[in-house]
Amino acid sequence: MRKITCAVVFLCVSAIAPTATWAASSDPLDGVPLEHRTTLRAVAAGYRSVAKPHYRVVGTCSAESADYAAKTMELLYYNLSYLFAYDGKLQQSLVFIFANREQFDKYREMAAKEVTPQARGFYSPAAKAIVTYDDGDRALLTRVLMHEGSHQFLFLVAPKAPLWFHEGVAVYLESSTWEGNKLKIGVVPKDRLKHLQDSIYKGEQPRLETLVVMEFGQEFTLVDYGVAWSLVYFFATADQGRYAPRIQKYFKMLKGGSEADGAFYESFAKDFGPEGFNALERRWKKYVLEELK
Ligand SMILES: [Zn+2]
Repeated sequence: MRKITCAVVFLCVSAIAPTATWAASSDPLDGVPLEHRTTLRAVAAGYRSVAKPHYRVVGTCSAESADYAAKTMELLYYNLSYLFAYDGKLQQSLVFIFANREQFDKYREMAAKEVTPQARGFYSPAAKAIVTYDDGDRALLTRVLMHEGSHQFLFLVAPKAPLWFHEGVAVYLESSTWEGNKLKIGVVPKDRLKHLQDSIYKGEQPRLETLVVMEFGQEFTLVDYGVAWSLVYFFATADQGRYAPRIQKYFKMLKGGSEADGAFYESFAKDFGPEGFNALERRWKKYVLEELK
């Protein structure tokens, strides 16, 4: 995996969309860049695809899984658009879902050697596609789609988005859970919260000022993931949602090409008074240790 709502409304549940169609169209690899079609054909045969407004699922998995994935991706898009107040138009983005681990590994070895062999899914910047497989575990498939789909969205819409924001948003959304046919957003991952709280008690967490300018390729530890997730959660939900518009401002600045450090200061730290980062850090820490459950 690539190491690489308003406040209230975003914590809403999103109803699943109506049924999609999984069809063996004239060419199911339509929309896939030419050089990647060759790789896909070398990995397996018998591709089918399903197209929805913002995503195109291409794969060898079952029709049911593809249909499920397409609906889940559209829900993700809805929630990302809501979180960021994004009203632009995303091109139809690709999702590759293989029928089994063997095909997935073959694709990874051929087209994404840099991805760790333990990964269950990843976002391929080269193919601009999420790549994963279906082994019948819907909860895990959902996590992968929500996590990698967040990366995909940010890479395509706001290429300047820094590492902390990518992983924070990805973990925020991967923690969504189904309740019946509704997807609940903004669920607190208890194990991650406990680990983060323990790390803060021990003073092992990174300084926010340092974390928010980390770049892709730098080591991003488990506690870094926890801090990134909790910052997104904090801005999205804390203090009756008063910080949620700042996420939108930050996203807009990044989308417009601003650098990560300036955008963070302008959007978040500046409003915490003359102490900026330090004041924000104190408020965030109190939130994580005493208010977040
Ligand atoms: Zn990630």
